[in-house]
Amino acid sequence: MATYTTAFWHEKVRALKLRPLHFIDGSYVPSQDGRTFPTINPATGGTIADIARGGQVEVDNAVRVARKAFKHGVWSRMDPRNRMAVLEKFSALVEQHAEEFAVLDSIDMGKPVMDMLNIDIPGSVMALKFFAETVDKIEGTVTATASSALHYILRQPLGVVGIIVPWNYPLMMAAWKLGPALATGNSVVLKPAEQSPLSANLLAELFMEAGGPAGVFNVVHGLGEEVGKALALHNDIDKIGFTGSTEVGKLLMIYAGQSNMKRVSTECGGKTPQIILGDFDDLDTAVTYAVNGIYGNQGEVCNAGSRILVEKNIHDDFVERFTAKTRENFVLGDPLDPSTTIGPLVTSSHQARVLNYIDIGKKEGAVLKFGGGTPSSLSAGAYVEPTLFTSVNNSMQIAREEIFGPVATIIPVSGAEEAVEIANDSIYGLAASIWTRDVGKAHRFARDVEAGVVWVNCFDHGDMTSIWGGFKQTGNGRDKCLEALTQYSQTKSVWLSID
Ligand code: NAD
Repeated sequence: MATYTTAFWHEKVRALKLRPLHFIDGSYVPSQDGRTFPTINPATGGTIADIARGGQVEVDNAVRVARKAFKHGVWSRMDPRNRMAVLEKFSALVEQHAEEFAVLDSIDMGKPVMDMLNIDIPGSVMALKFFAETVDKIEGTVTATASSALHYILRQPLGVVGIIVPWNYPLMMAAWKLGPALATGNSVVLKPAEQSPLSANLLAELFMEAGGPAGVFNVVHGLGEEVGKALALHNDIDKIGFTGSTEVGKLLMIYAGQSNMKRVSTECGGKTPQIILGDFDDLDTAVTYAVNGIYGNQGEVCNAGSRILVEKNIHDDFVERFTAKTRENFVLGDPLDPSTTIGPLVTSSHQARVLNYIDIGKKEGAVLKFGGGTPSSLSAGAYVEPTLFTSVNNSMQIAREEIFGPVATIIPVSGAEEAVEIANDSIYGLAASIWTRDVGKAHRFARDVEAGVVWVNCFDHGDMTSIWGGFKQTGNGRDKCLEALTQYSQTKSVWLSID
């Protein structure tokens, strides 16, 4: 096993093969009009590569070859066990290329390279493997009809699926959607976020190395308003699988209505409450989860526990321990340094957006307990210090809007009843957690909280069999579970008269 040092990772970056073009029908192609856009390393501000900037022409080409592959049945009608073997090999190849994926996403969007190795890559490999294993277990049903008829229900792929993903987990968000889309036999056009385009083409290459046919997995790079919009408005795309902001999720539903009524599944924003009640007797554990829940991945996490609701009788003690634990756990620095636990934010414009929220918090009267600035020793990068606001109330903008950065807000509460009321007072409903030894309070919270994922005495736990998806304006998508297969397939009812 390699010993990971900063020098090791920097050498990996120097040796990197960059893949700046679109991947269509198994080949690399530039944009027809030659346009490109730069992808920037947010730790240094330097340009890593100029990436092909796609448009309508590239989307049309990718959709055409994806449809052709689908109709020919090279993938959609491949024997299930053969399709399963390709996907299993695909997941194994992703695992074998872990170090390459780790540096690609790390330099592209700023997350610590060791988080890639410990979180994103195992999560991506597990998702691809899980869905590979389902391929020969997807069954139709025979229903109980009169003896004069045979009625059965087939489960079939949708056709061509557009996958649009964000930049916060570039590889893992793609894997969560590619898994069910490919397992059910669809052809795919993937559009990575323009802030993090580097790893998508390696994924597509590995799919083909595993035996996937050309034209089944295509990648078109470019801006959301150009490539993403063209995919969502395309009349020959059957479904958009989307992870990203609520704002864009709503646009995709409009685009679907303006075109061919394609299906749209959305995994969007969050403002996750973490509730800590005074009866919980292991405050240090709750504090450790709470700091990791908001500052991990620079706070650029859909389920970041950004609203921390603390019962008043333990409030001051909690704030003190939270402050100490943040200092102990979070080290800002070069994402390629294995000791770094917070890298830069994805771009300097996102850094400015997060800093603006910190100004808003101060103006709203919240108390800035720590952080709030940019570290002077890292001025070339888009860094923001871990930040804590106390004396927050849920009507403040910093408690209502998704900041998507390392900014925690603490809201004092009188008990479980008030906590659930505040937790539900949000347009979002992705996740929620509660820390209590009172089993009744825990169950009532799990029943009453408006969130798709609930944690009791833990935070961010889960595996491939636990459904991921939200309520309300977090969207309608369900990832990482068998239910995801139903979102990438459709039923057909077949009736045979046998009289
Ligand atoms: P974003 O919505 O700005 O972009 C997401 C993707 O949509 C990108 O590929 C982008 O190019 C594309 N896009 C942008 N405008 C578009 C348009 N008009 N038409 C079509 N496509 C368009 O989101 P982001 O800033 O990349 O990611 C952060 C957001 O993602 C946060 O809100 C976060 O909560 C959410 N997210 C949710 C989950 C989840 O599981 N619920 C997981 C990760 C991230």
